[in-house]
Amino acid sequence: MKEFAKRIEELALDLTSQFSVLDTPDEVVMAEKVYGILASNPYFQKHPELLRYVELKGDSLGRKSVMAIVKGEKKPSDKTVVMIGHMDTVGISDYGNLAEFANQPHILMEKFKEIQLPPEAKRDLESGDYLFGRGIFDMKSGDAILIALLEKVTADIENFEGNLIYGAVCDEEGNSGGMLNLTPALVKLQEEMGFEYLALLDTDYMTSEYEGDENKYVYIGTVGKLMPSFFVVGKETHVGESFKGLDPNQITSKITDRVNLNPEFCDIVEGEVSLPPITLKQRDLKPEYSCQIAKTAVQIFNYATQCSTPDQVLDKMMKVAEECFQEVIDTLNQRYEVFCKIANRPFAKLPWEARVMSYDQLYALVEQEVGADSLAGLVKAKMEDLASKTDIDSRDKGMLLIEYVHSLWSDRNPVVIVYFTPPYYPHIYVEGSTPKEKALLDAVADAVDTTKSEYKLVYKKFFPYISDLSYGAAPREEIAVEAFKANTPGFGTLYSIPIEDMQTLNLPVLDIGSFGKDAHKFTERIEKRYTFEVAPELVYKTVMNLLK
Ligand SMILES: [Zn+2]
Repeated sequence: MKEFAKRIEELALDLTSQFSVLDTPDEVVMAEKVYGILASNPYFQKHPELLRYVELKGDSLGRKSVMAIVKGEKKPSDKTVVMIGHMDTVGISDYGNLAEFANQPHILMEKFKEIQLPPEAKRDLESGDYLFGRGIFDMKSGDAILIALLEKVTADIENFEGNLIYGAVCDEEGNSGGMLNLTPALVKLQEEMGFEYLALLDTDYMTSEYEGDENKYVYIGTVGKLMPSFFVVGKETHVGESFKGLDPNQITSKITDRVNLNPEFCDIVEGEVSLPPITLKQRDLKPEYSCQIAKTAVQIFNYATQCSTPDQVLDKMMKVAEECFQEVIDTLNQRYEVFCKIANRPFAKLPWEARVMSYDQLYALVEQEVGADSLAGLVKAKMEDLASKTDIDSRDKGMLLIEYVHSLWSDRNPVVIVYFTPPYYPHIYVEGSTPKEKALLDAVADAVDTTKSEYKLVYKKFFPYISDLSYGAAPREEIAVEAFKANTPGFGTLYSIPIEDMQTLNLPVLDIGSFGKDAHKFTERIEKRYTFEVAPELVYKTVMNLLK
């Protein structure tokens, strides 16, 4: 194992030396570097057809992922473990004037001795137990583990039974474009080679879950994420006649107050609790300043899931919207009554009615008025127009499509429309209810139990960070998938994920990562011993257990 650890450290430093910041041409250079490292392995020189690029379709930078396939030669076997690691990193501007050294850990650490660091980072720097550098933690050390594992296995391929696939993907920190293109490629490969996939393993980073947490985690399954959103249509009015209007900001504010960080919306599975939702955006859509109140507002939540499916989240959010809308109307009536009393005017109840519908329901109502064919044609043209615009954030495109569909409707009364904003990362829960899931739980349990180290190893459910692992499966229930597709404006044109391919893969997933601290900060670092010795042993044993 000593040689193995040395090789992983060497690879981690080598991979870190090449910058691969998200959305830059360096991502392509990085893919070519990883391809080159694998291509120098005698196994792939003998089997060049097993080393491939997977293009990122329609990408202006021409980015690509790398897919390496290893077929054991001991006995024919279709058992296959799929492993993934991302090659891209976040930007380097957080290093300030040391940015040029962010790819050279040893030089960077020398420079760090001359500047002020947060106390914990300073302690770790002085301990000599850590390596600092952009991407070394998230997640080039993880890639190094997988590349070294392939080297170890291929060196003795005659005695290896089963198959391995390594997908080195791009664009993970962005739109998961690498994985979204790898998923269909994995489905095709499965047919081509007759493989039976057993699990999807990622080696993305792992860190302490709370201050003073000494545990080192292996995660089976992953959290997911949905972005339930609200398009609120109020009633515009001049501020001089304010009670004649309905301010959409008052409704979105109420919804924020009701939902934000409210544990009522946490998913609890096997005692593990997801984080409650939080707003990612809340604003009205009035571009200019004027004495007219806003007419529409939009609001987007980040909603973590461990068991809730899109149909269930939609349901909960529609109930929330109804409740909040009604409360706003009640409050307005109370305030109007008091105002009328003190201003000595006659009071009459305000005309508002709480109305909430999903995007799907709005579409159906507009369809009744406009006609199915002509609405489909109009929406298609609008989607194509939006798709071609590069200056609009893809989150806003769905909202603009709703605004458009709503504008085609004759009914201008206040309404809240609930929908989904992309992206969608399904959660994957590995319960142990199928033989495949059970085998994975056993493989991990054995790896953790037999790995001797000074660390406290713990395996848990649900990798807590949003990652490409989510695309290893999708909900099997038609109602869940339909609720998402029908309520994500422009699904298939403005945003798509290969749901059918994800359902075909239907893999239990896990993450066995390097240990370190401060991902996405300039003090990003790995702890060497766990990363180069313990994590690789856990990965190796888990893979071997699965293929046994
Ligand atoms: Zn990562």
